Amino acid sequence: MSAKVRHILGLSGGKDSAALAVYMRDKVPEMEYFFCDTHKELDETYDFINRLEARLGIHVQRLEAEKGFDHFLELYNGFLPSAQQRWCTIMMKLKPLEKFVGDDDAISYVAIRADEKRIGYVSTKPNIKPEFPFQKDGIVLADVHRILEESGIGLPEYYKWRSRSGCYFCFFQRKIEWIRLQENHPDLFEKAKAYEAAHSDGRKYTWNDGETLDQILARKDAIIADYEARQKKLRENKPNKTLLEVLQMETDNPSDDGEKPCFMCML
Ligand code: SF4
Repeated sequence: MSAKVRHILGLSGGKDSAALAVYMRDKVPEMEYFFCDTHKELDETYDFINRLEARLGIHVQRLEAEKGFDHFLELYNGFLPSAQQRWCTIMMKLKPLEKFVGDDDAISYVAIRADEKRIGYVSTKPNIKPEFPFQKDGIVLADVHRILEESGIGLPEYYKWRSRSGCYFCFFQRKIEWIRLQENHPDLFEKAKAYEAAHSDGRKYTWNDGETLDQILARKDAIIADYEARQKKLRENKPNKTLLEVLQMETDNPSDDGEKPCFMCML
């Protein structure tokens, strides 16, 4: 007799994976929900995961790497992770997921929507097969908002100032999000800055290409003005979109750093 196939759904703390949990709850009652905790997430993310559990009556398994971010940073010789060297995703999200699944056959449900193209890390283990229910069923952004609204879950609190889940220091943040981090969580901004500080041998790393967080902060007014001008233009071009949809369009099509986040961390 063949072993039972496991059904797993990863929650990133973002809206799409949350909506997928709502969408799949009754379709796959044996679903195992998990959240890869880097211990560097925003408090709002932890609150959102707790809210999901309470509202949906599900248990979300917290997965974590055997060692923390600082350990891996040392292992990588102080090199901060970046879009090109995304060791954080591999060590702190992908490996804990693969350990969780082990050699079991599993279907991993991924919340990429029908209206977006996104690439990212998927497990290359042959026993973990991804499925994309939103793509298959034509679920788009407006549906995700409706699903979360109707379920009473709503959006994570950080959506008031940032449109992505993930670590507070995530290098995928756009400049405006760093500014908002400083405004909303000055303590976390300082911690992110501390990671950029010079190493004992004089080396320096930055979260953003060629610009320290202090330099970004010094350009605060210009960054906000630029962001607001882009928002205004988007709203003029898409008068039927809600403010949230406009924000999401900017996230999906970033214009100041050109990088899309990976779906292990931000869905
Ligand atoms: S959220 Fe960003 S910093 Fe955190 S693990 Fe993912 S890619 Fe790395």
